[in-house]
Amino acid sequence: MFAERVLKYKKHSLIDLAKLAEGFEDVIYLNVGEPDFKTPKHVLDAAKEAMEKGYTKYTPDEGISELREAIAERESRKIKTELTKENVLVTAGSTGAVFAAIMSLVNPGEEVLIQDPWYPGHIRSITLAGGKSIGVSQVEEKNYSIDLDELNEKVTKKTKLLILISPNNPTGAVLNYKTLKGIAEIAMDSNFYVLSDEVYDRFVYDGEFRSIAEVPGMEERTIIVNSFSKAYCMTGLRIGYAVSSKQIIKEMAKVACAASLSVTSIIQYAALAALKGPQSYVEEIVKEYDERRKLVMRKLKEIPEVSFVEPKGAFYVFPNMEKLGISSKELVEYLIREARVLVSPGYPFFGPGGKHHIRISYTVPRDKLETAMERIKQAIEKLS
Ligand code: PLP
Repeated sequence: MFAERVLKYKKHSLIDLAKLAEGFEDVIYLNVGEPDFKTPKHVLDAAKEAMEKGYTKYTPDEGISELREAIAERESRKIKTELTKENVLVTAGSTGAVFAAIMSLVNPGEEVLIQDPWYPGHIRSITLAGGKSIGVSQVEEKNYSIDLDELNEKVTKKTKLLILISPNNPTGAVLNYKTLKGIAEIAMDSNFYVLSDEVYDRFVYDGEFRSIAEVPGMEERTIIVNSFSKAYCMTGLRIGYAVSSKQIIKEMAKVACAASLSVTSIIQYAALAALKGPQSYVEEIVKEYDERRKLVMRKLKEIPEVSFVEPKGAFYVFPNMEKLGISSKELVEYLIREARVLVSPGYPFFGPGGKHHIRISYTVPRDKLETAMERIKQAIEKLS
């Protein structure tokens, strides 16, 4: 009855996970990957002002020129190149950009390489396009970096695209330039595209953010996707963008246009204010997340059965719980019962690589986080 593309689509929503906590009191939620801070006032004011000025009509499919230019300026600075608004497509969140990229590049039966553990959101678009997701390990022993030999082995004649997330959800890993260069060489040799998900590019606590688009020769085969969701706490406002060659953007715009014509007009003005306004807001929240990251790591070190790779970016820690001898799903259920803390199970949400893990999002204030981590510690002590 229904199209195969939707029948194949499996829903593993992180929000559904919250159902597990129903009936428990005083639960601390460390499962959701969205910032807990308010959207900056000047951003909200810009949306209100746009509404009052009557900017409530259709906008150009690719987004309003002022915003595309501001994005081009930011990304040019970031990847040290000269982009124009023709290199930019404004989308409904970075998710809209990922969907447009995959639908315009991937034919049914073609393969898309994704990091395993993976971010489940990308798989949805690959499935709808009829593509095949192929996992490439993020190697725990190598700080969740990518093994270039394994990547090479996974490339076939059907490989069309590699999706990279750095800083990574769920591992918190940040790929260094040497690794990105190695990946880029494989992409150029084997002629596939790279979608670089850079939604956490501001959230780097140790080291520096680098994009694969900076590697000479990669600009034309990279699609950068980014978002206002995380840095400006605008998750519900649904705005993001893609940056790529003019030709790729032109094809992606067809998909975005078919899906929604354009992104909500007033939110585009809000996003413009976010980019043009003071950036101290972002710097402050990143500083706070770093403190929380250190807190989570300090508490995890107090639990001998747990090991983890120090996350360098994003706002997640992905500890390995294999020594506890229960599945990650069972552990999540146990922690809600025993500790009244909700975390995400590493498997199946984040793929086979998440099998012995849980994902802790440090998106609650420090006092709550301290309480949650203490409760987790005490619950695990009872298990062993
Ligand atoms: N990419 C990654 C790696 C994410 O973690 C998320 C959200 O958690 C998204 C994309 C989706 O972001 P957006 O709100 O921009 O669609």
